[in-house]
Amino acid sequence: MGLLDGKKAVIFGVANEKSIALAIAEAFRKEGAELALTYANEMVEKRVRPLAESLDVKLVLPCDVTRDLDIKAVFSTLGEEWGGVDILVHSVAFANKEELRGSFLNTTREGFALAMNVSVYSLIALAKEAAPLMQGRGGSIVTMTYYGSQKVFPSYNAMGVAKAALEATVRYLAEAMGPDGVRVNAISAGPLRTLAAAGVGGFNHIASHVAEKTPLRTNIDQDDVADTALYLCSDMSKKVTGGVHFVDSGFNIIGM
Ligand code: NAD
Repeated sequence: MGLLDGKKAVIFGVANEKSIALAIAEAFRKEGAELALTYANEMVEKRVRPLAESLDVKLVLPCDVTRDLDIKAVFSTLGEEWGGVDILVHSVAFANKEELRGSFLNTTREGFALAMNVSVYSLIALAKEAAPLMQGRGGSIVTMTYYGSQKVFPSYNAMGVAKAALEATVRYLAEAMGPDGVRVNAISAGPLRTLAAAGVGGFNHIASHVAEKTPLRTNIDQDDVADTALYLCSDMSKKVTGGVHFVDSGFNIIGM
């Protein structure tokens, strides 16, 4: 018997084999969930299709999260195919490369707005469309954040502010969706070498510093995040909502 037997899970944010969202998809599949994956654009689609096939995923849908019509189409298809949704994973973020290097003072109005739109508002937009399909099923929404929301990391800049807003969004959504039995949580993952991380200037420096200073003296991997996502999306956590859950080998407790 799997922890997610009978559950329907839609996962936003698979780009390639290193994506956190892919590790989550694999863990959910192993535990019995039926999956739908989305992709941001045609370039990403080419990599996502074979990955979806390897997981026996039938529903692979286009969704640029800045486009309301794409989002509506995804949930309309899920309504027709599944009749409801139990789990939504939001593993999506973007900022222009120029925003992720140098001084925070170089943040531009356009770059800031784009980072907030793709990385924060998208969670609200997805939750809004998912809400009618998740009602009364003991559903769970999980998003991905980073400790740069609370502390300053070199080059993380506008994305740090976006993650702070994302974490606040988790709390407001948890309150708004709680009466319908939907839980909303964030996982704050330690540094992982993915496509998104490659855009952050000085990422290698952050990763090696964390590995050296963190209580467990090691960085995490994608499967560590997937295990916590599994807990947060299963009935094991049925009274857990509105939280930010660190999967970072304990780095966040260190002062010096
Ligand atoms: P990734 O590049 O594999 O995933 C990011 C995803 O966002 C990609 O699938 C990309 O296609 C998608 N995306 C970007 N713009 C989009 C748009 N307009 N519409 C739809 N999708 C769009 O990298 P990842 O590290 O797996 O990132 C997943 C999440 O984890 C992000 O929120 C990231 O900030 C967060 N996170 C990453 C780390 C890390 O060190 N890698 C640490 C903590 C949190």
